[in-house]
Amino acid sequence: MIRKKVIAGNWKMNKTAADGVALTKDIVAEIGRETGVDVVVCPPFTALESVAHVLEGQAIKLGAQNMHPEKNGAYTGEVSAEMLRTLYVTHVILGHSERRAYFAETDAFINKKVLSALANQLKPILCVGETLAERESGTTLAVVQRQVEGGLQGVTPEQLTSVIIAYEPVWAIGTGKVATTEQAQEVHAYIRDLLTKLYGAALAQKVRILYGGSMKPSNAVELLAQKDIDGGLIGGAALEARSFVELVKAAGAAK
Ligand code: PEP
Repeated sequence: MIRKKVIAGNWKMNKTAADGVALTKDIVAEIGRETGVDVVVCPPFTALESVAHVLEGQAIKLGAQNMHPEKNGAYTGEVSAEMLRTLYVTHVILGHSERRAYFAETDAFINKKVLSALANQLKPILCVGETLAERESGTTLAVVQRQVEGGLQGVTPEQLTSVIIAYEPVWAIGTGKVATTEQAQEVHAYIRDLLTKLYGAALAQKVRILYGGSMKPSNAVELLAQKDIDGGLIGGAALEARSFVELVKAAGAAK
């Protein structure tokens, strides 16, 4: 099964609207019509609308970094799926390890967001991954299984192919320490096996599973060549057009 690769840039709390527009223009100039790879940029909420204007008529998609599961109401500081949709957002990162760690997000809460995103035609990028302590204590696969099963509770077979999963070992995020290709492929294959048990092989083969954690042009080619690695969720290297574009090109060239 050939799955179309995905390269998604997570800008985190970086870039003003003006900075985001400049970065997006540079990316568009290089790969605006790239259709062999699904390219997604995920600016902070404050830059979504300005970046959306730059992306008008381009193949590059717009993603948010978070959302609240409720439609509206007394949730100060939060933003709903419906609000994101009005800004031409198509993807949303959910359950990033920084939100799990700093904002105490649980699998149950992340699951509510996944269901709300899907109900509003947003494609969730569901992040999972173990901490260094969990890897060292040999619980990586159990942790990832709990996060995948918890995040996907109630997701129907019809909805599953709209979900993108990102395996991001927490110890590799923003640290410069990338997982070895064997470490990454092992967990990706485990996630696909789990999806096969939950949804059957035909659907499991269609789900894109991205790697995230210090991915950059120098290590991407080897990672993207792995059988179950279908792209990357990129932090640091997405903040600069040159490295992001190189990653998109590496994904386009990967078999
Ligand atoms: C991320 O935060 O999703 C990420 C992968 O960051 P970095 O590429 O900087 O490790």
